[in-house]
Amino acid sequence: MSDATNDEGRTGDGTRAVRAGLPEPVKYEPTLPGPVFAAHFHLPGEVTGPYAYGRDDNPTWTLLERAIGELEAPGAEGVETLVFASGMAAISSVLFSQLRAGDAVVLPSDGYQVLPLVRAQLEAYGIEVRTAPTAGNAQLEVLEGARLLWIESPSNPGLDVCDIRRLVDAAHAGGALVAVDNTLATPLGQRPLELGADFSVASGTKQLTGHGDVLLGYVTGRDLEAMAAVRRWRKIVGAISGPMEAWLAHRSIATLQLRVDRQNATALRVAETLRQRPEVSDLRYPGLPEDPSHKIASQQMHRYGCVVSFTLPTRARAERFLTALRLVEDATSFGGVRSTAERRRRWGGDAVPEGFIRMSVGAEDPADLVADLLRALDESSD
Ligand SMILES: *Cc1c(COP(=O)(O)O)cnc(C)c1O
Repeated sequence: MSDATNDEGRTGDGTRAVRAGLPEPVKYEPTLPGPVFAAHFHLPGEVTGPYAYGRDDNPTWTLLERAIGELEAPGAEGVETLVFASGMAAISSVLFSQLRAGDAVVLPSDGYQVLPLVRAQLEAYGIEVRTAPTAGNAQLEVLEGARLLWIESPSNPGLDVCDIRRLVDAAHAGGALVAVDNTLATPLGQRPLELGADFSVASGTKQLTGHGDVLLGYVTGRDLEAMAAVRRWRKIVGAISGPMEAWLAHRSIATLQLRVDRQNATALRVAETLRQRPEVSDLRYPGLPEDPSHKIASQQMHRYGCVVSFTLPTRARAERFLTALRLVEDATSFGGVRSTAERRRRWGGDAVPEGFIRMSVGAEDPADLVADLLRALDESSD
């Protein structure tokens, strides 16, 4: 599925990833300049030019924003990217800068586990919040009169997928803006702006940076007026990325295509392995041909992600399985080069069974990982 060479005359994903956001070469300067640590910049006289105060702009952000923009919307004109301290900062910047008291917003009912807290805050500000599941394009049913549609596809942790273009067309026909949480897919897996969305929003904490050592978020948008409001929100809230984090993120993007291709291919192999096991139920991976998400995913995604979810019969069995694993750490988050898995119900937020496990497939050798999973399944059986 990966578009190594591109039919639209663009360079391939790997080439774009390693070159994304690099400045023009300057003799004796590094390829990717190091992080610029500055609270303020020299500013004699009039306030002109991009860099005055470190809460508003930073040269390290500029290069990273350019890199993410080149991956989210290659070749597009007039698209802007802004980086944030975290995925939640990016999500909040769109919702709280675009919505006013009296507006209605449509959220997924099965989205990221912090969305219910966001919902309560939106409602406290007099914004009407409607929710519907991602599967079956159910958000179409509650769109009437909404100002903003928020899509999360694939959804986390359920891995349902909706028809983004169809939802965008319906939302735009009714005058609503559309934002897509692109965290799970990464811009190499899905490009929401090319599917018509106004914003692609993501946590860069996950597979985009991929090493489990950086919190980051970003918003890429095509509507420059809307993006000006997002930028204003970043300024007033101050939810900015540190220069070191921004630089680490940019450095990590160079290996994005290598990581996603390896991790996603292994995720498919893990799913094919788990499919054979009688104690595994409700196995989900959008890349499996028989998965309920596969048909739409294959039409709108370039890659299917590194997350596999499944259910073991009981909470105790799931806990024994996680403890028995040696190569897979029991930890939250996903997308890193080291595999992780967790029992999602321990957080209390997601509406999933007690034995539900979300696994993030890392960059280990596929055979080692499969062997570890099979051994842990055997050792954890009653
Ligand atoms: C992790 C995550 C977020 C939040 O990102 P942070 O960087 O942790 O703030 C938002 N959406 C999805 C789908 C996520 O997985």
